[in-house]
Amino acid sequence: MIPLPHRMLLDWINDVSSSPRKGKRWPIIDADEQTLRDYTDLFRVARDWGYNGITIWGLYVDHAWPVDLESCITPQRRRIIDAILEEGRRQGIAVYSGLGVYTWGFEEIIRAHPEVARNEGRWCWGRFVESNGVAMCYHQPAAREWMRRIIDFAVKKIGVAGLGFQSADQGRCYCSQCKQLGHMQYHALVNAEAAAYVRRHHPHVKLSVSGWGMNFNEEADFPYLKEMAQHLDFITDVSDQAADKGGDFRRKLVQYLPCAFGSLGGAVVVPPQRWERDRWFLPHAQLTGSNIRHLALDGGRAFEFFAGPMNNPQYDIMTRCVGRLLTHPDDAVERALGLAVEDVLVPETSAVRDSLVQWLLDVERAYFSHIAPVRGQLDFEPLVGDHAGPPVYLDRLGDKLAAFAVEMTRLQQQFQLLSRQCRQKEKASLIDRCLTNIQKDVAWRVANSKT
Ligand SMILES: [Zn+2]
Repeated sequence: MIPLPHRMLLDWINDVSSSPRKGKRWPIIDADEQTLRDYTDLFRVARDWGYNGITIWGLYVDHAWPVDLESCITPQRRRIIDAILEEGRRQGIAVYSGLGVYTWGFEEIIRAHPEVARNEGRWCWGRFVESNGVAMCYHQPAAREWMRRIIDFAVKKIGVAGLGFQSADQGRCYCSQCKQLGHMQYHALVNAEAAAYVRRHHPHVKLSVSGWGMNFNEEADFPYLKEMAQHLDFITDVSDQAADKGGDFRRKLVQYLPCAFGSLGGAVVVPPQRWERDRWFLPHAQLTGSNIRHLALDGGRAFEFFAGPMNNPQYDIMTRCVGRLLTHPDDAVERALGLAVEDVLVPETSAVRDSLVQWLLDVERAYFSHIAPVRGQLDFEPLVGDHAGPPVYLDRLGDKLAAFAVEMTRLQQQFQLLSRQCRQKEKASLIDRCLTNIQKDVAWRVANSKT
């Protein structure tokens, strides 16, 4: 099989931060010298392991564009973002800006210009939500103008190589007029409208749609998906609904669409923004590798790997492993993982490398075998709150938490023996520290559930 043409990373700007970011509402989008260093390190690894793009959310705003748009870019921020984009160009990584379409980023604009929205509720992740204030209305002409102004700003004033659209994550307008439209019909209309504008006015810009909150499992929606896809480079089925439909459903959809079709790997493992960087270690090569292979066999040609800090060993290893699989979809997971292990830990012999690969697969099984089926977003800590949150990923284990703890104790002992035969001592001891910290979180969880 050929390499997937769209080999992407994806993140909020501080998901790759080498130190925790705290003290503000998620998502924290601070940009400083450390941000630039973190992206420089990430892009170097990304280039070496075959990625060719990244979608970054929060280059300029979190929940709200300022009404004048311009003031979101201070001179300091401008310098950092320009340098990240330049580093991307230098390393062959196209930087897309994540961009909300009618939702995500419009809270202040809606407050200042209420004519862009209708306060009649919204439809969000399968249910009606009475409050609005986040979603503009497709039937308000002023909303279309704001959307276009923001696209122009991102392309002309910032100079991104691509735009990663998202219209569904925070729901869509469900006013008396909009609700006449089916959900996919609505999303196709808003995305196609914005995408056609980009194609007309900024034809050099790459375009994708991320399907958080959208449906990909109804054949009746195919024409709507096609309408949106005709303007796009790729579209991602975030929670793999088309694959879960079974049979040859996804293959049929892939053939039907005029743009590349992609996945995030089924389980989207989102790094914690506010935790110390050595607090977790949850490799998932088997899970993601199997997903990439099936995607490629179905004709899928795009993948977005959720990026994380490179000074956390899970991301240090997984970023490499996934990059290898995207360029070599025929590779066995063991082969891709072995190459990543050689690069990160530098084992003394091929036998030690192979044992480390098996060990990583055992660590994956110790967690994921208890929480199957694994779909959608997997958070380590809650996304709400200002400071480091509790280890909610352990809650998914339910009554298997004790079994997980026993298994992780055994695996840590095994790793300590193997790590003696690794030349990269610093990275080996970092993994050991992560394993110790996982045990501390397990102990906290156990103690906490008794009270
Ligand atoms: Zn509406």
